[in-house]
Amino acid sequence: MASTKKQSQDKALYPELSSVSTGMAGRCPRCGQGKLFKSMLKPVNRCAVCGLDMSFAEEGDGPAVFAILIMGFVIAGLALLFENAFHPPVWLHVVIWVPVTFALSVWCLRAMKGIMIAAQYKTDAQEGRLADRD
Ligand SMILES: [Zn+2]
Repeated sequence: MASTKKQSQDKALYPELSSVSTGMAGRCPRCGQGKLFKSMLKPVNRCAVCGLDMSFAEEGDGPAVFAILIMGFVIAGLALLFENAFHPPVWLHVVIWVPVTFALSVWCLRAMKGIMIAAQYKTDAQEGRLADRD
């Protein structure tokens, strides 16, 4: 109940932001101004602009699953198109697709983490507790 009351206070002070746009931009889900990440993939503990405590952010394996599915589809599709168009040797596939896969995967994982954290904030999602039953 306390978090629901806190969220209604947040909505009175801050406009509701899109989870996708703030998450992909790596911005705070409440104010949309502060940075969400202190390093490439590590979320901050607290927003430097509005002071939102990010301890609620527990994204688990969700972003990795989405990143694997999306990047698998994109990279495999691009590699197949490249193979059909140019018939390059295998070593050229390795030289091209290994760094592209690494770079796009890190970018996609960061974006998915941001979206998941923003969605957690927006929906007030958290682990189930015995007190939630009934
Ligand atoms: Zn903020």
